[in-house]
Amino acid sequence: MIVVDKNKCIGCGLCAKACSFGAIEMRDKLPTVLDTCVFCEECVKACPVQALKNDSVSAKKQDFSEYAGIWAVMEINHERGQLQKVSLELLSEAKRLADILGEQVSAVLLCRDIPEDFEQNVANVGCDIVYIVKNDLLERYDTELYTSAVCELAKQYKPAGILFPATENGRDLAPRVSCRLQVGLTADCTALDIDEQRNLVQIRPTYGGNIMASIISPDHRPQLASVRPNVLLVNPLKTPADTQFVCVDMELDAESSKAKFVKAVEKEGVFRDVGEAEIVISGGYGIGSAENFRILQKLAVKMDAAVGATRKAVDEGWAPFDIQVGQTGKTVAPELYIACGISGALQHTIGIKNAKHIISINTDPAAPIFTMSDVAIMGDAVQVLSRLCDKVEKYGR
Ligand code: FAD
Repeated sequence: MIVVDKNKCIGCGLCAKACSFGAIEMRDKLPTVLDTCVFCEECVKACPVQALKNDSVSAKKQDFSEYAGIWAVMEINHERGQLQKVSLELLSEAKRLADILGEQVSAVLLCRDIPEDFEQNVANVGCDIVYIVKNDLLERYDTELYTSAVCELAKQYKPAGILFPATENGRDLAPRVSCRLQVGLTADCTALDIDEQRNLVQIRPTYGGNIMASIISPDHRPQLASVRPNVLLVNPLKTPADTQFVCVDMELDAESSKAKFVKAVEKEGVFRDVGEAEIVISGGYGIGSAENFRILQKLAVKMDAAVGATRKAVDEGWAPFDIQVGQTGKTVAPELYIACGISGALQHTIGIKNAKHIISINTDPAAPIFTMSDVAIMGDAVQVLSRLCDKVEKYGR
């Protein structure tokens, strides 16, 4: 908490003025700190007579010498027995961060069966250690069992930081681990770094994407962050690492699992996973109607592409939420992104930053999407798409 030394305080009120959260009230010329205080210490800095100090845990020096290394939690497509690409994206980034710290990078693999080519894949991105918990109960993702396993590993081996994939499963797992370990979590980071105090800097957009926040967790270890698929790049090394595999025996309590697996169903049709597709054809508000949206689906089938949408198109009910691209939707990294009737708002374009090539179709020459496109087509999106459909039919993809 922020404490006030009444003997030093001169009642100038500069602390209350400095507080961006309105968390200090001057009562009888003395500052009173309210519950809305976030311990940012702006008041402490503003006080000309050093009458305020942060007396919370954060003010005390913590000893984190036992905590070392950056971990990445692996995600498997259990149906296909393959490692999801996001796992290697996280592991590559964990390696970069661990190198800055001069520490080791580790992967955490919870499974029944080791995925195809796993050893080679992790060695290629420089992984030093893999902690494997192999158990029939881990045949597929289970909230309770996966949470227990990650927490047990973290307590036993004490990493300085853990990266989670911000996928459906990762978004379920990471906050539970954070709660159980009583540490913070920054979800959906778009970049990571290490500061001079060796803290993990977790960077993510905030206030509707208008500012980027750099978040640190200096008082707790491990530091937890999640990153969406396709945000980070896989960085294969010229010389693969000599990875060490540590099989950890762990008793898992089947009774603790509260969910029962019934069956897995592959998604059908053109509304397939935009995150994995090589070509994504996205429609925005300029498409005009749900009816017109079908032309995107038709072209997607012909081009073996996935259909994406902006939030406005989703809000109109023209497309399902799970194909929304952008800040509150998915991040994509296709070879080709075709943006049809999309203005190019920051909240959308943040999700297509890693697309290799962008073609956009828009009637407005001043549409911001044009400034980031390789090919800009000025015209009515539905007409252009219809002609494109005919051409693809005639000449192939
Ligand atoms: P508009 O901005 O209305 O653009 C329509 C475009 O179509 C215009 O450029 C127009 O010139 C063009 N056009 C019109 N007629 C035609 C035609 N016949 N042919 C060709 N072009 C035509 N948005 C997302 O997409 N994803 C997100 O994840 C997301 N998250 C958000 C999170 C927050 C917190 C907030 C505040 C907003 C978020 N948004 C998101 C919304 C975002 O700010 C924009 O409102 C949205 O992306 C705009 O969608 P749009 O480009 O389809 O529509």
